[in-house]
Amino acid sequence: MTQLISALADHLRSDQIDTSPSALALFSRGESTAVTRSPDVIVYPETTADVQAVMRVASRLGTAVTPVGANSSLEGHTVPLQGGVSLSLARMDRIVEIAAGDFLAVVQPGVTYPRLNEALRPTGLFFPVDPGAEASLGGMASTNAAGTMTVRYGVTADQVLALEVVLADGTVIRTGGRALKSSSGYQLTRLFCGAEGTLGVITELTMKLTPRPAHVAGARVSFADVGACVDYVTELVQSGVALARCELVDAPSITAINRHLGLQLAEAATVFLEFHGDRHTTAADVSTALQLSREHAAGASAVAKDEGELRALWRARHQAFYCLTAAHPGLNSLVTDLAVPISRLAEVVAASLEVTAEAGLPTYVLGHVGDGNFHLTLFFEPDDAAAEAAALASHSRLVALTLAAGGTCTGEHGIGFRKLPYVRAEHGAAVDVMWSLKDALDPLGILNPGKKLPARS
Ligand SMILES: Cc1cc2nc3c(=O)[nH]c(=O)nc-3n(C[C@H](O)[C@H](O)[C@H](O)COP(=O)(O)OP(=O)(O)OC[C@H]3O[C@@H](n4cnc5c(N)ncnc54)[C@H](O)[C@@H]3O)c2cc1C
Repeated sequence: MTQLISALADHLRSDQIDTSPSALALFSRGESTAVTRSPDVIVYPETTADVQAVMRVASRLGTAVTPVGANSSLEGHTVPLQGGVSLSLARMDRIVEIAAGDFLAVVQPGVTYPRLNEALRPTGLFFPVDPGAEASLGGMASTNAAGTMTVRYGVTADQVLALEVVLADGTVIRTGGRALKSSSGYQLTRLFCGAEGTLGVITELTMKLTPRPAHVAGARVSFADVGACVDYVTELVQSGVALARCELVDAPSITAINRHLGLQLAEAATVFLEFHGDRHTTAADVSTALQLSREHAAGASAVAKDEGELRALWRARHQAFYCLTAAHPGLNSLVTDLAVPISRLAEVVAASLEVTAEAGLPTYVLGHVGDGNFHLTLFFEPDDAAAEAAALASHSRLVALTLAAGGTCTGEHGIGFRKLPYVRAEHGAAVDVMWSLKDALDPLGILNPGKKLPARS
């Protein structure tokens, strides 16, 4: 320990090295997991050279290094399971360049996506992935985050043109470039996206930008139950309307939202919709969506007529997760992240609700259903081992039925350590290829150990 701190102090200022009990406690936990493990030290690099120095020290001493962005990931990604160094990218938060003419921005990893979008406002461009929490772009690339607009614009990896990465031994590499497309070399940019900090530390990102739509329209439609919502959404997606957002919120979640945000939404399973285009096309899309909803026996509906109404309409969805946790103070939660092909969504959601009903725990459904991704959140008392076992057993069954439908155990949150039991079932022998890549890039296994890959076969 002393050796580690003094080796780090050879390269970093004292205010870049923190061993205070309060900071160690803060970095010992992630969102949504009760498991904690304290790091030995937190470091705050300010440059790529700082990250290089930390990695050289860590590889010389065989010390674990856990990169940390905004720490909003949900699967225990940032819990330093082997102690060592928690490497916070928070101070590497400079927007290096906005090249509007090339539709790209170069950023350091600690820049959050809302901050990038604020800086892009005068350009008429935006970064279209919005995971809800104030995530950093380095963290979002590392989990391949998605969000409410993925149905239209894709996931984070789709927006990353190039990366600068510090490897485990301190080597700095650049992947990709500024051209919108390239067939040169292996697609290493894509490899580091979603690697959850297990293959290298991202120190710079070149992000693709998208023109802001000329007009945005929104609507909200309620149905008798979740099944009716999903049937409606499936047909809406298949109709080819230009959906930019398509979110499901079940009735119990709406009740929690009403209570905690002081709203009076109809307490029924609800689909939130948004369309991007010009005034004419978005009006036509809203009209098609409402017409189709009537054919699916919709209940209450609302249309946002201006930006203020649109913001109000989406506030309920954006705050939903926090409303659920506020409704169950002190309870632990298990959030699933299942995703299936859209044609199998209705059947898998119906089967999933049967499974969770058997567990008898408070359960809520939220989902980016337009792209076949939905979250079931189960709550249980922290000291109730039987309830926790029931939640975990339900999760196993849900993953099994999702994989059988051609889906994935995680559409966007990633594996961390909590979803490790499902990785081999999903990928089979490909897991051994993943281990070969890990061994090639991080032979000592010091980068975020215990995450992403299950035990070797
Ligand atoms: C209320 C709420 C709603 C959410 N909704 C969504 C959603 O809709 N969609 C979605 O995808 N996610 C969602 N999330 C999860 C979370 O916001 C994403 O996983 C996000 O991408 C994490 O970014 P972060 O900056 O917080 O990263 P962190 O949590 O700090 O880190 C995430 C992972 O990336 C690694 N990492 C971080 N920075 C780097 C770097 N520079 N180089 C290498 N590795 C790095 C870490 O080691 C870790 O493994 C939600 C979370 C909350 C709390």
